[in-house]
Amino acid sequence: MLSLMSAPSSPRVTRIAPSPTGDPHVGTAYIGLFNHTLARQSGGRFILRVEDTDRNRYVPDSEKRIFQMMQWLNLTPDESPLQGGPNGPYRQSERFDLYGDYARQLVQSGHAYYAFETSDELAALREEAQKAGHVIAIPSRDLGAAQAQARVDAGEPAVIRLKVDRDGETVVNDLLRDPIHFANKEIDDKVLLKADGFPTYHLANVVDDRLMQVTHVVRAEEWITSTPIHVLLYRAFGWPEPVFAHMPLLRNADKSKISKRKNPTSVEWYQNQGFLPEAMLNFLATMGWTHPDGQEIFDLAEFERVFRLEDVTLGGPVFDLAKLRWYNGKYLREVLSEDDVARRLHAFLMQNKVTLPSVDGPQDPYFRAVTHLMIPRLEVFADFMDKTLYFWSEDYPVNEKAQKAIDAGKELLPELAARLKNLPTFDAASIKEMFHAYAEEKGLKMGKVMPPIRAAVAGTMESPDLPEMLEALGRERVLARVEKAAR
Ligand code: GLU
Repeated sequence: MLSLMSAPSSPRVTRIAPSPTGDPHVGTAYIGLFNHTLARQSGGRFILRVEDTDRNRYVPDSEKRIFQMMQWLNLTPDESPLQGGPNGPYRQSERFDLYGDYARQLVQSGHAYYAFETSDELAALREEAQKAGHVIAIPSRDLGAAQAQARVDAGEPAVIRLKVDRDGETVVNDLLRDPIHFANKEIDDKVLLKADGFPTYHLANVVDDRLMQVTHVVRAEEWITSTPIHVLLYRAFGWPEPVFAHMPLLRNADKSKISKRKNPTSVEWYQNQGFLPEAMLNFLATMGWTHPDGQEIFDLAEFERVFRLEDVTLGGPVFDLAKLRWYNGKYLREVLSEDDVARRLHAFLMQNKVTLPSVDGPQDPYFRAVTHLMIPRLEVFADFMDKTLYFWSEDYPVNEKAQKAIDAGKELLPELAARLKNLPTFDAASIKEMFHAYAEEKGLKMGKVMPPIRAAVAGTMESPDLPEMLEALGRERVLARVEKAAR
């Protein structure tokens, strides 16, 4: 097996850098999976850094929920605010002091400058620039260093801006693309440090990636336009650039960027629906990547074994919920043992405060019998109760189709009930035999005999194998239901 693998690369240090601004997003899980894998494959480190400098968008419990998501998916970081690590702290809000020094270092070296424009002035400049079709020109850029320093020393509020050389171009090398050329005259002198001392995304991101020794920046495509600024920052500091790879964005079916309106985007929604983390990971791994052997079902270890970053393709992968459900069904039926499914299903139902009358645990024989019957008919755990109401209560709905089947076969029900009553053993094999004998005797097709019974005991035609279902329900319950329907 080892001989098939390309030579192990030097340890990669990767990271995700989510901003705690809301629900834990499938995009974060997606990018997390690839970064986790790249680090694991090479014996490297996977870091989770919280980029919480934007206090306006900060949502207090969001960070905790991101950790929970990563844990649920088994993508535990090696370093994070929770785990700690040698490069901490891992929250940018706890690293504030260092960003100012780095920004001032760039002022010293002439790669950045103090800017004093007020927001009104900036608005006017922006409008002017838009009309003229060029990037905003900041007058403070032309102040002498001594003059600017004097104004800062006198207490005048100032931001620090990157001084982008107006000539030439900045090339972004992305592992998944041809070099991307950005004309410098189109790159803004971005703010690096705000007047209140808060860093912007660009500065904090680059400084932290450097201090945390990140070797591979693997993030979503939407950050490509920020990357020339980051490249300029690395150069200004005299630091080597990491490897950049911008992953394709997950898309809705109509190819627009994945959005709440068209697809649930919170991983908690998938958790609440009872999706399996293994199925979710498997599905996410196929977003922009295909297993070299065409294998559709594979686990994290297999992904780590065969994945190569350079094989990622860029045609916007569609986050297709139906496909994810299909994966989940596959995992229920073909990957997990029945024991495992029963245990997880039971835990899911308990978490959701579902009461299963007289079931005392995942090993309960009745619960196991129902689970066994339902596994072939289930895609996600959340559908379980709706599909099995008749197993748990006498008060189950009878749908229109079932009512029709009862009405059509009503005259058969009393005798079938009698035969069910008289069976020496009430098991699936005997029940099946009885149905066949009855059909033959009366010259009826099985398609006439079974539906009214099915309809009577389940209230729906979408139910498992009839003899097995009757055995699971037990004679007493079956007779009561059939007799009631016969009235
Ligand atoms: N804080 C950014 C985010 O919310 C990080 C982007 C990056 O990975 O550089 O995704």
